[in-house]
Amino acid sequence: PDHVKNAARLPRYVRVNTVRTTVDRVVEHLKSKGLQLLEGTHQLPEDDRKSFCFDEHIENLLLLPTNFDLHDDPFLLEGMFIIQDKASCMPSFILSPPAESHVIDACAAPGNKTTHLSSSMRNTGRIFAFEKDKRRSMILQKMLMMKDIDVIVDNFLKSDPTDEKFAQVEYVLVDPSCSGSGIVNRLDYLYAAPASTENEGIVEDNNRLESLAAFQLEAVLHAMKFPSVKRVVYSTCSIHQRENEDVVQSILKGCGGEFKLAPALPTWHRRGLPLFDGCEMLVRTDAKEDRTNGFFVSHFERTHPVQKREL
Ligand code: SAM
Repeated sequence: PDHVKNAARLPRYVRVNTVRTTVDRVVEHLKSKGLQLLEGTHQLPEDDRKSFCFDEHIENLLLLPTNFDLHDDPFLLEGMFIIQDKASCMPSFILSPPAESHVIDACAAPGNKTTHLSSSMRNTGRIFAFEKDKRRSMILQKMLMMKDIDVIVDNFLKSDPTDEKFAQVEYVLVDPSCSGSGIVNRLDYLYAAPASTENEGIVEDNNRLESLAAFQLEAVLHAMKFPSVKRVVYSTCSIHQRENEDVVQSILKGCGGEFKLAPALPTWHRRGLPLFDGCEMLVRTDAKEDRTNGFFVSHFERTHPVQKREL
């Protein structure tokens, strides 16, 4: 089938975990494995099994030959790099919280995007990583292996935005459960698919989409209630308008003008479906055309600056 062919053609994407090592060290390591760095290009030809190069859009992301074997690689085992599909690197890269910020990752397990946020913050500041599923939160904890990330095993929707510990949170990533309809390369998402227990009793596809979209909307609107939040990124690995542009439109209505769309990865060519003003600020990826899984990212910023609170 087509999706298998497409998956077979995707490069092996590797994101350097700059909290643990440097890009130079990873480049040297890959050279020692017999690969050669293609300089001055971001294109890795499909039949080139001996080279690697840097990605054009995402910092610290490398393209290796399709299915390049890394299973017992010491750099991988020690978390110096992470196998992470290009599209799934976009949300944290777009949010890019600076050093020392306080950040919420609302739906965090297995933690690919959490570690990416932490890299972006140079391992400073504070991250609150919510995950309601106990089993998945254990995978998250194992993946993080880092200080200054508070794993909160709880339903994000039940968190209290007025809790003093969240008072300085300015950035939120919402990467909630979705239909997963964009995924062609399961390997990268082995742990990212929605937990099966969540879907119990939801039989009809349409009902399932409606219920996912309702949850996605609620999660983003909840994120927008935290008093100091300046920016929110909402992403899915779905290609359905119902979970993407439609949810964004409901968010814009539901937040009462507090937030507006902000540009996201402006150098990327594929944008949101042209359904309303601002759709050109949304990011879509197409699994057939873009050498990555199908994905969607939106970026919101507060319309008016947050009032500084009296101390
Ligand atoms: N961001 C993750 C990453 O990049 O590794 C992938 C997240 S996955 C798409 C969605 C996750 O949200 C699942 O692990 C699911 O168990 C969790 N989840 C679903 N509903 C939640 C809720 N109400 N509160 C917290 N986590 C939730």
